Amino acid sequence: MIAEEVLTQPDVLAFRLRYNMPPNDPRLLALTEEEVALDLELGLAVREDALARQCDQCGAWTYRTECPICPGQPPLTEGERLAARERAGERVDWDEYNRKVWGDRPPGVSTAEWERRKREGAAAA
Ligand SMILES: [Zn+2]
Repeated sequence: MIAEEVLTQPDVLAFRLRYNMPPNDPRLLALTEEEVALDLELGLAVREDALARQCDQCGAWTYRTECPICPGQPPLTEGERLAARERAGERVDWDEYNRKVWGDRPPGVSTAEWERRKREGAAAA
Protein backbone atom coordinates (compact mmCIF):
# COMPACT_ATOMS: atom_id res chain seq x y z
CA MET A 1 0.00 0.00 0.00
CA ILE A 2 2.71 2.50 1.00
CA ALA A 3 4.96 1.37 -1.88
CA GLU A 4 2.06 1.83 -4.28
CA GLU A 5 1.44 5.35 -2.95
CA VAL A 6 5.14 6.27 -3.26
CA LEU A 7 5.22 5.09 -6.87
CA THR A 8 1.87 6.34 -8.10
CA GLN A 9 1.20 9.43 -5.95
CA PRO A 10 4.50 10.80 -4.59
CA ASP A 11 3.00 14.29 -4.15
CA VAL A 12 0.11 12.97 -2.07
CA LEU A 13 2.51 11.08 0.17
CA ALA A 14 4.76 14.16 0.57
CA PHE A 15 1.66 16.24 1.35
CA ARG A 16 0.47 13.73 3.96
CA LEU A 17 3.89 13.65 5.61
CA ARG A 18 4.12 17.46 5.57
CA TYR A 19 0.78 17.88 7.33
CA ASN A 20 0.84 14.58 9.23
CA MET A 21 -2.40 13.29 7.69
CA PRO A 22 -3.76 9.76 7.32
CA PRO A 23 -4.64 8.67 3.75
CA ASN A 24 -8.39 9.03 4.47
CA ASP A 25 -8.21 12.55 5.93
CA PRO A 26 -11.24 14.43 4.53
CA ARG A 27 -9.16 17.60 4.01
CA LEU A 28 -6.80 15.62 1.79
CA LEU A 29 -9.63 13.83 -0.04
CA ALA A 30 -11.24 17.22 -0.83
CA LEU A 31 -8.15 18.36 -2.80
CA THR A 32 -7.37 17.77 -6.45
CA GLU A 33 -3.95 16.46 -7.55
CA GLU A 34 -3.18 19.95 -8.89
CA GLU A 35 -3.96 21.56 -5.52
CA VAL A 36 -1.67 19.10 -3.73
CA ALA A 37 1.13 19.73 -6.26
CA LEU A 38 0.68 23.51 -5.99
CA ASP A 39 0.88 23.37 -2.19
CA LEU A 40 4.14 21.43 -2.36
CA GLU A 41 5.57 23.79 -5.00
CA LEU A 42 4.68 26.87 -2.91
CA GLY A 43 6.21 25.25 0.18
CA LEU A 44 9.49 24.95 -1.75
CA ALA A 45 9.25 28.42 -3.32
CA VAL A 46 9.14 30.28 0.02
CA ARG A 47 12.22 28.52 1.41
CA GLU A 48 15.29 30.70 1.87
CA ASP A 49 17.34 28.39 -0.39
CA ALA A 50 14.63 28.25 -3.10
CA LEU A 51 15.97 27.93 -6.64
CA ALA A 52 13.76 28.08 -9.71
CA ARG A 53 14.80 25.42 -12.20
CA GLN A 54 13.69 24.66 -15.75
CA CYS A 55 13.25 21.18 -17.19
CA ASP A 56 15.27 20.61 -20.37
CA GLN A 57 12.73 18.09 -21.57
CA CYS A 58 9.37 19.93 -21.23
CA GLY A 59 10.45 23.50 -20.40
CA ALA A 60 8.39 23.63 -17.17
CA TRP A 61 9.66 25.74 -14.27
CA THR A 62 9.74 24.25 -10.78
CA TYR A 63 11.36 24.61 -7.36
CA ARG A 64 11.69 20.84 -7.12
CA THR A 65 14.87 18.90 -7.87
CA GLU A 66 12.90 16.59 -10.17
CA CYS A 67 10.51 17.74 -12.89
CA PRO A 68 6.91 17.11 -11.73
CA ILE A 69 5.87 16.48 -15.35
CA CYS A 70 8.79 14.29 -16.49
CA PRO A 71 9.65 11.86 -13.68
CA GLY A 72 13.39 11.24 -13.41
CA GLN A 73 14.32 14.41 -15.28
CA PRO A 74 16.43 16.82 -13.18
CA PRO A 75 15.50 20.42 -13.98
CA LEU A 76 18.48 22.81 -13.93
CA THR A 77 19.09 26.42 -12.98
CA GLU A 78 20.72 28.53 -15.68
CA GLY A 79 24.00 28.42 -13.71
CA GLU A 80 23.86 24.62 -13.47
CA ARG A 81 23.10 24.43 -17.20
CA LEU A 82 26.11 26.65 -18.04
CA ALA A 83 28.38 24.63 -15.69
CA ALA A 84 27.30 21.41 -17.44
CA ARG A 85 28.08 22.94 -20.85
CA GLU A 86 31.50 24.04 -19.58
CA ARG A 87 32.21 20.54 -18.19
CA ALA A 88 31.32 19.17 -21.63
CA GLY A 89 34.11 21.32 -23.09
CA GLU A 90 32.06 24.25 -24.37
CA ARG A 91 33.31 27.80 -23.78
CA VAL A 92 30.86 29.67 -21.50
CA ASP A 93 30.55 33.46 -21.11
CA TRP A 94 30.31 33.73 -17.32
CA ASP A 95 30.56 37.55 -17.49
CA GLU A 96 27.28 37.66 -19.38
CA TYR A 97 25.70 35.31 -16.82
CA ASN A 98 27.04 37.42 -13.91
CA ARG A 99 25.66 40.62 -15.46
CA LYS A 100 22.30 38.94 -15.89
CA VAL A 101 22.22 37.64 -12.31
CA TRP A 102 23.95 40.47 -10.46
CA GLY A 103 23.33 43.40 -12.79
CA ASP A 104 25.96 46.12 -12.88
CA ARG A 105 26.72 45.90 -9.13
CA PRO A 106 30.49 45.58 -8.59
CA PRO A 107 31.74 42.49 -6.71
CA GLY A 108 31.98 43.04 -2.93
CA VAL A 109 29.31 45.79 -2.86
CA SER A 110 26.10 44.78 -1.04
CA THR A 111 22.75 45.15 -2.76
CA ALA A 112 21.67 47.80 -0.21
CA GLU A 113 24.91 49.77 -0.69
CA TRP A 114 24.58 49.55 -4.49
CA GLU A 115 20.96 50.75 -4.37
CA ARG A 116 22.02 53.68 -2.11
CA ARG A 117 24.83 54.65 -4.53
CA LYS A 118 22.45 54.52 -7.52
CA ARG A 119 19.86 56.68 -5.69
CA GLU A 120 22.51 59.26 -4.79
CA GLY A 121 23.88 59.17 -8.32
CA ALA A 122 20.41 59.71 -9.77
CA ALA A 123 19.75 62.57 -7.34
CA ALA A 124 23.08 64.23 -8.22
CA ALA A 125 22.47 63.94 -11.97
ZN1 LIG B 1 9.80 18.20 -17.55
